[in-house]
Amino acid sequence: MKTSLIATAALVAVGSVWADYPEKPVTIVVPFAAGGPTDKVARDLAEVLRKGLNNQPVLIENVGGAGGTLGAGKVAKANPDGHTLLLHHIGMATSPGLYRNLPFKTLDDFEYLGMVNEVPMTLIGRTTLPANNYAELVKWLEANKGKINLANAGLGAASHLCGLLFQQSVKIDMTTVPYKGTAPAMTDLLGGQVDLMCDQTTNTTSQIESGKVKAFAVTTLKPLTTPALAKLPTLDASGLKGFNVSIWHGLYAPKGTPKPALDKINAALRNALKDPEFIKRQEALGAVVVTDGRLAPAEHKKFVEAEINKWGPAIKAAGQYAD
Ligand code: ASP
Repeated sequence: MKTSLIATAALVAVGSVWADYPEKPVTIVVPFAAGGPTDKVARDLAEVLRKGLNNQPVLIENVGGAGGTLGAGKVAKANPDGHTLLLHHIGMATSPGLYRNLPFKTLDDFEYLGMVNEVPMTLIGRTTLPANNYAELVKWLEANKGKINLANAGLGAASHLCGLLFQQSVKIDMTTVPYKGTAPAMTDLLGGQVDLMCDQTTNTTSQIESGKVKAFAVTTLKPLTTPALAKLPTLDASGLKGFNVSIWHGLYAPKGTPKPALDKINAALRNALKDPEFIKRQEALGAVVVTDGRLAPAEHKKFVEAEINKWGPAIKAAGQYAD
């Protein structure tokens, strides 16, 4: 009886300390460069997330490099006080298979807050490429073996995974050029310094629409419905049977973040993902906002674990490792 009274009193005390959380700005670390697709999702989300966080500013800190593992590592070691979060993507699940010495434990060092959205990818190229469709691209790749540059955001990035699977599927090796994110990679693609890139529609839609890049295919099994992307064939229908890469984003906090803060962030996330403006902006870029059970922290953690087991063997088979 006495013990349970003490326990109840302790819980009330913890609850009241956190009743006004957050009382200062919250920072979301984006593990890629500003202006890229992960950054765009984070900035859009930050605007609506703050409504559920006492209207405190939700700031974005870009910590690009090493395919997202530098930023994720920074959050894994951050003070777990509810003021530092991580917005990451499928790289959470691919990096354990790619790095021999990952500076964090993906499943143990984070609190899982929930999934945000799913985003398809597109295979795009510089406008000066002589190919105008996927069949012509394959002919150009065959004719230029050994000279092809493929941009990505480093080992562990979505663009790395997609590019890796594409090279395996077409059976042509390309020289990969890593950047701190696909925003700077896009700058070089626009300038013609690199030939190809596979990247999220959240970064490529407007460039495709304005004709600043050539678009060859989408990476999903079904064609997309977003107007600028609807006429693109799938890689699956273009001869790479079964090619299917769609990425997702999730929100995380350092392990040990107190439950009242996690509950408040999760509630804010659920409300943010119902925001009609946020949904509209995401849909215009080909992304689908998550509205189902995958928003639950435990479900998202199970999903990430399944993704680690799904992509790990493909990555190991490709023999790609970094220290
Ligand atoms: N699209 C990038 C990737 O390949 C990341 C980024 O710059 O947002 O993972």
